Amino acid sequence: MKRVLITGAAGFLGSHLCDRFIKEGFHVIAMDNLITGDLKNIDHLFHLEQFEFYHHDVTKFVHVPGKLDYILHFASPASPIDYLKIPIQTLKVGALGTHNLLGLAKDKGARILIASTSEIYGDPLVHPQTEEYYGNVNTIGPRGVYDEAKRFQESITMAYHRFHGVDTRIVRIFNTYGPRMRLNDGRVIPAFMGQALRGEDLTVFGDGSQTRSFCYVDDEVEGIYRLLMSDYTDPVNIGNPHEITIKDFAEEIIKLTGTDQKVIYKPLPKDDPMQRQPDISKAKEILGWEPKVGRAEGMKKTYDYFKSLSQEELVKTEH
Ligand code: NAD
Ligand code: UDP
Repeated sequence: MKRVLITGAAGFLGSHLCDRFIKEGFHVIAMDNLITGDLKNIDHLFHLEQFEFYHHDVTKFVHVPGKLDYILHFASPASPIDYLKIPIQTLKVGALGTHNLLGLAKDKGARILIASTSEIYGDPLVHPQTEEYYGNVNTIGPRGVYDEAKRFQESITMAYHRFHGVDTRIVRIFNTYGPRMRLNDGRVIPAFMGQALRGEDLTVFGDGSQTRSFCYVDDEVEGIYRLLMSDYTDPVNIGNPHEITIKDFAEEIIKLTGTDQKVIYKPLPKDDPMQRQPDISKAKEILGWEPKVGRAEGMKKTYDYFKSLSQEELVKTEH
């Protein structure tokens, strides 16, 4: 049986990756320190013989007994309010954590896939963003702790690949959504859904003309899986190119949820990217991948998930 280590396994994407690899017949070793994740996301896997969980901070030395075929490094705070609250841990997990996992991959002869992000393009001056674009990041701005950790992560990954011959993959993930996002993580979809369900007005930051392109989690996981199984070692964008302004998106959510609430405007956070859309030509050509789930279908599934949460979870807020 092939063995895969998934870090950040109790988080949103990590937990969906655990499900996928279990389904593919892997032995899954899940690792997380639960700083932004929740064991309830992987509760349903604990009874399986081919699943094990390590409560561990990957910025500390990482040891896993036995052979390892694959490593997926997904541990990292991922929402702006998380990484603004824990900036040093964010830098450390991208830098020290990635270093530890690359060392483990080298030791075990495992292939390693690193979760990078569209944030490495910063507030992009090239649109849509191709993998060739170097980005426009404010190193000393508040978001810099995440963006620069991820940029360092890509650099050290390529160094291990070129210098030590480690078999590496880099996925640049664009805004992904779906069930198991944390309702109070501050990202726009859980924020708007939580507000609609609590009967609060929807808070659009800035004038709402900034854009994002949202990818449903099943599509994202499929792209990541294909990249891992490919022989392509340069970074690949995986995301849904269907772009929308945040203002229009708020209106879409008001329609979907049937709420009577309205949109209110709050100041735009510093360095908030004004536009974002992945160029996925490479993923199409190399992986034969493109997203299949449209926003209407994906948002409906996501809304059903948030609706199923208890009243207690719904009112819990970190703002
Ligand atoms: P998430 O916060 O739901 O999951 C991250 C997980 O990592 C959490 O369970 C957290 O407890 C764990 N973690 C953090 N620091 C750790 C450490 N030092 N040791 C062990 N575990 C630690 O976030 P997510 O949306 O699932 O994101 C997962 C990965 O994908 C991140 O690396 C993120 O940068 C990347 N990513 C996500 C998106 C997205 O839209 N969801 C976009 C771009 C990149
Ligand atoms: N946003 C918003 N209201 C909120 C939360 C977010 O208008 O309550 C905006 C945010 O300013 C950004 C976009 O929605 O322009 C996406 O934010 P998110 O935090 O989800 O992702 P990221 O900025 O990392 O792409």
